[in-house]
This record gives sequence, C-alpha cells and structure tokens, in this order.
Amino acid sequence: MTEMLLGLMQNEFPLTLNHIRRRMQSANHGSEVVTLMPDGSAQRISHAALTERVDRLARALGELGVEQGDRVASFAWNNQRHLELYFAVPCTGAVLHTLNIRLFAEQLTYIVNHAEDRVIFVDDSLVGVLEKLAPSFEGVAHYVVMGDGDTGSLPNALRYEDLLEQAGGGPFDYPELDERQAAALCYTSGTTGNPKGVLYSHRSISLHSSATLMSDGNGLSRNDRVLAVVPMFHANAWGLPYGAALAGSDLILPDRFLGAEPLAKLIASERPSLMGCVPTIFQDLLRYADEHPDVDLSSLTNAACGGSAVPKQLMKDFEERHGVRIYQAWGMTETSPVATYSRPREDGEHDAQHWEDRAKQGRPLPWVELRLVGDEGEEVPWDGESTGEIQVRGPWIASSYFRDPDPEKFDDGWLRTGDIASVDEKAYVQITDRSKDVIKSGGEWISSVELENELMSHPSVIEAAVIAKPDERWAERPLCCVVLSGEGAASAEELVEHLSSRVAKWWLPDEFAFIGEIPKTSVGKFDKKVLRGQLAEGRLEGRVKV
Ligand code: AMP
Repeated sequence: MTEMLLGLMQNEFPLTLNHIRRRMQSANHGSEVVTLMPDGSAQRISHAALTERVDRLARALGELGVEQGDRVASFAWNNQRHLELYFAVPCTGAVLHTLNIRLFAEQLTYIVNHAEDRVIFVDDSLVGVLEKLAPSFEGVAHYVVMGDGDTGSLPNALRYEDLLEQAGGGPFDYPELDERQAAALCYTSGTTGNPKGVLYSHRSISLHSSATLMSDGNGLSRNDRVLAVVPMFHANAWGLPYGAALAGSDLILPDRFLGAEPLAKLIASERPSLMGCVPTIFQDLLRYADEHPDVDLSSLTNAACGGSAVPKQLMKDFEERHGVRIYQAWGMTETSPVATYSRPREDGEHDAQHWEDRAKQGRPLPWVELRLVGDEGEEVPWDGESTGEIQVRGPWIASSYFRDPDPEKFDDGWLRTGDIASVDEKAYVQITDRSKDVIKSGGEWISSVELENELMSHPSVIEAAVIAKPDERWAERPLCCVVLSGEGAASAEELVEHLSSRVAKWWLPDEFAFIGEIPKTSVGKFDKKVLRGQLAEGRLEGRVKV
C-alpha cells in the first residue's frame, strides 16, 4: 500500500473558542455588546474591553477550583455577564452548562446532578427560582450571583463583580486546548424520558459559528448589529453570540425584557440589522408594530426565525407592512442548532414560488448532510412528495448524548431527528410531521407522555393520548384524546383541575376529544398518526374546548 501523502498545511491548528476570543480582543475594532437594562437604558462595552473582563473571570474560575472538564452552570438571561461566561468557561477548558430557566423543578434537579455542575452563576433576578432548588443539588460548591440583588438563601453565595475585582487585571495565560475538548453542554427535553445532554466541542462550535457567517445562512458580517432574543440557554442562542464575536458584528442582548413593547423599542433605538427568535415572539412584535406605526422596525433586514414552523403569512405581513425580512431556519439542540436555512435565490419578484420556498425549512447548510429514511429503513427520494424521517450528519451534529448513549437516536453515524419531512428537487426540506412524542408550544417542549400518564391517573380515564394541535399563537398546543370509563364520567374542566396540581400551568390543555377508543398500531401502541390525520381532516370526534 502506498503511504498517505499528508498535506503540508497547519493541520494541527486547533479550532477553539480561544481563536474567537482573540478576535474579539484584537480584530473587532469598534464592535460593541449592548445589554438592555431594567430602567430601559443600554449598557455598552466594546469587544476588546469585554475580553479584559473575560480574562478576570478566567482567573476567578481557577481560584474557585474549577479545572479542565469541570461543568460550570449558568442560570441567566441574555446579557453581558452571560456572554463573559460563554468565553471564560470554555476558554479555560471547563464546560459551560447553560441551564434552561424554564424547566420544571425536577428536571432542573436532574440535569444539575446529572451534569455534576460544580459552580452555578445566577442572575440576581432569578435567585428566587434557584434558591428553592439549591438543597436538591448534590455537587454544587459555589453559587455566584450576577448583579446587586439579594442572594436569598443560596449557600456559599459569592458576588460576580467581587470575584472579578479580586481576580485582578492583566492578560490571562489560557491553556492550549484540543479542538475536540468539550466546551458547552445543553440539555434538551425534546425527547421522551429524562432530558438529554448535548455536549458541544470547541471544534463543533467553531465550525457552526463560521456557518453563521455564510450568506446562505445567517450571513453575519462586520456591518451587522445582531439582536439575540432566542435564549442563551437554548442551543447557545442559535450560535449568534459566537458568530457575532467571530464576524465582529455588534451584539444586542435584551436580558429578560422579551415583551413586544420593550423589544420594539429596543429595535427602534438600537437599529439591529439581524434578529433571531421563535415565531411566537415575531407574532407579538407584528401585532405591536401594526398598532404602533410610529415604531420603526425597518432596520431588521435579515431576521432569523425557527424553533417551530414559521407561518408564511407572518413572513409576508412583516415584509410587506414593515420592511422586515424573516428567513426560516430548522435545527435542534443536537444540531448546534442550525442545519437548514431557507434563502431562495433573489432573482426576481417575490412571487408565489418564492413564498412557497420561504415557507419551507430550507436547504441543508454546507457541511450538513441530510437524508430521509422511511419506515422500513429505506432511503426516500427527494421528489417533494415522499416523506421520511430526517437524518443528518456533519461536524456540528451530536454523535451521542452525555452519559446517556440512547443508541436509538443515532444510526450508523447519522442523527435521527424525529422530524418527518419531504425534500424537493431544489433540496428544500419541508417538515410535515414529527415522530417524537412531544409538543412544541411557544418554543418550549411539552411532554405528551407525561400529560397522558397524569390524565390516566384520574379514576374516570381509561386511556389518554395527547397530540399536538396547530395553533396560530403558540405553534402547537396539546389536544387530549380521552377514553372515559363511562359517558360523561368526567368533564374537560374536571380533568384540567386534576392536571393543574401535577403539571406546569402552560402545559394545561385547552381542548379535549372524548372518543370511544384510541387507535392502536399492530403492536398495540397508541397510533397517534391516525389521530393526527383525523384532526387534520376534521374527523376527530367528541371535541370539547375548555
Ligand atoms: P430544540 O432542540 O428544542 O431546539 O427543538 C428542535 C425541534 O424543533 C426540531 O426537531 C423540530 O421538531 C422543531 N423545529 C425547529 N425548527 C423548526 C422549523 N423551522 N419548522 C418546524 N419545526 C421546527
């Protein structure tokens, strides 16, 4: 066999977040990070000045005893300090575990303990939520409160600014890292059972960040001002903070002020060119903009939307009435998250075909490979009609979950996404259904299985199957199909009352279908495909709104 002839390039140069940090420090002259403050003012810092604070934080982490590979958690909104953690933690070789502040108590306890978080950095506005859970966290040695607010009953609470002050200034000597080292951890509850940890590497984040600079993707550039509304605890805010740092774009962070009014005012005053968020927030913003014609949102020439299907009408209305162009992306926590992006060729009028394409989830980004697989494991053709499960592979796609292998999700190097789609001859993906048993409401997951179990614990319920019902505002809401022990044995209101002490308020269903029998598959499982079909065709019997 002939010997492999190696390319004579710097093959060992590691793709790590230290490169992105160094660019912020020295190459992004004039770029800034803006955080919306509670009094409506804007806190500003240059990229270079932010890296000085990152250096201090890196030193402080060492003093707290954080070592390479340790998990350091954040429980925070989108703001400057959270961004400092985004760099200091991974650049020292530790792993930033961004906790989803909207998870239930038991899920948060599970993930903090499963990840073995050693330190938790918490926004002062969220201390009230975290302090109740702190006794259930097994290995957390320190809580660091960000902001001047009360530290509550958190044990061993330290203050973020004190730590930075004590750490002292001057450059920090960052360790040499391997690009395959873990950098960030994010749990997804978009599967059944316990939340699953997606463990990003320096390499995967570096490459995904580069993809956010591609003009067929987010297209971030030096000229952009990027408003990251999507939470920094959700798949690294879709990679926007790292992308902005790499491109030298300004980054605008709304902290906890996510209502239509503060966001619209922030857009009007800071004039972002790009914004990323879920459809629900865009819908609220559209309503607000229609009612307040004096608020100018037209700086947004390039808004990214995803997390659930983006209604065509929403994109059209925004573009035609407010000059805001929204592009749809698809992906998941496991795909870092952006995997496809819908940017039709700009070669003419925005005609019906253009809008058809815009309403699809888009073409795979460069480096993402995608295939459709049918029920029998066969590959499904890209003919725009046949459907199959989307499977993806590529350098920013998960290969396994953290300490929870779940082999069913991974098929010989491909990630099984649980999304069902067709792909047309132009390579546009269109999601048609979901095989995973969850409902996505306003960008957050509702477990249908958990709702079913709680419903079936009611004495009058024999069987319950919960499916997603399309909803204009929330994208999806749970619809509970219930078989009662006798006609009228329980009312919809009684069942909601029963659920209300058992699940989060926003999980409570607003519609039931009282049916005679739940359709079953050949192996006796609930066949939700049949129920979803009946719902779509208006044939689902016994529907009652609450
Ligand atoms: P998450 O891991 O919480 O980000 O959720 C990922 C899931 O959200 C995907 O597997 C899809 O089911 C759904 N999703 C994301 N983007 C879109 C989109 N553009 N259209 C339809 N569903 C989407």
